[in-house]
Amino acid sequence: MTKNLDWANLGFSYIKTDYRFIARWKDGKWDEGELTTDNTLHIHEGSTAIHYGQQCFEGLKAYRCKDGSINLFRPDENAKRMQKSCDRLLMPQVPTELFIRACKEVVKANQEWVAPYGTGATLYLRPFVIGVGENIGVRSAPEFIFSVFACPVGAYFKGGLAPSNFIVSEYDRAAPYGTGAAKVGGNYAASLYPGKLAKERNFADCIYLDPKTHTKIEEVGSANFFGITKDNKFITPISPSILASITKYSLLHIAKERLGMETIEGDVFIDQLDQFAEAGACGTAAVITPVGGIQHGDNFHVFYSETEVGPVTKRLYEELVGIQFGDRPAPEGWIVKVELD
Ligand SMILES: *Cc1c(COP(=O)(O)O)cnc(C)c1O
Repeated sequence: MTKNLDWANLGFSYIKTDYRFIARWKDGKWDEGELTTDNTLHIHEGSTAIHYGQQCFEGLKAYRCKDGSINLFRPDENAKRMQKSCDRLLMPQVPTELFIRACKEVVKANQEWVAPYGTGATLYLRPFVIGVGENIGVRSAPEFIFSVFACPVGAYFKGGLAPSNFIVSEYDRAAPYGTGAAKVGGNYAASLYPGKLAKERNFADCIYLDPKTHTKIEEVGSANFFGITKDNKFITPISPSILASITKYSLLHIAKERLGMETIEGDVFIDQLDQFAEAGACGTAAVITPVGGIQHGDNFHVFYSETEVGPVTKRLYEELVGIQFGDRPAPEGWIVKVELD
């Protein structure tokens, strides 16, 4: 049985589900972890997560297939990325086994919250690690919490793939050798103000350029950028301050292996957008958002269209979503089934 929600009209808002997973790190090791119904945390007032931003997070989704089974999409990649984020912030790694077990247990315990097949809605999973315990000085925490909670979310696009417009920000979300490549809250705290300025001007979000030279595209809000050149190449930026999107690396594979395109990870100069026939932003939450146009100073550059999705972006989207919901064959290892017994 699935819950009686208005699946077709769900947005991206918090809805309390029944269970979340929580594990604690103390005296050099993680405990087994357990499911709990309590959606609040009781932590020490000196916790490093509160004062010094010692925390990181992940985001992935559970997808209901036609046969009623439930898919996770590349959770091992989220586990690996969280291990890198933990390394960067001097937090203990969550082993891949613990990470995937936690995700599976949360999905299984909340399976009534996984939308029926065909609604486009999914169960969003939010794993995170925070530094906790008695402390006041700038140092790594004595204890840590790893938790995963779940929240049903709607299809990002209700009426088909609609393009959004973006504006180039004068601010940076990360420094050249800072924490841009780690999925940490600090980067998001830094992005709230530039994001607000963009939205006040009716843009969906802002585009961040490389923090060193401010000449190359790095991120589109909290998603990665890709462009389809007029000669049908898939190009996406490469930089040590970009957060490596798992969706982006999946699209690189799909573009090459299934669409037969040449794929390039390289520089995308903000003054050379004319080379592109289409552009998009990609990430777990937004899947693929077609980029209609980009405002840069006084110049507004339109890619394919401000109202219609381009043909290559559409094919990439259909292939990716088809794999995630189990309708199209997945490359080996991409789909992990949640045992529901
Ligand atoms: C999470 C995130 C993305 C998207 O990554 P996915 O693995 O595709 O969900 C892109 N940019 C930033 C800054 C992110 O935090």
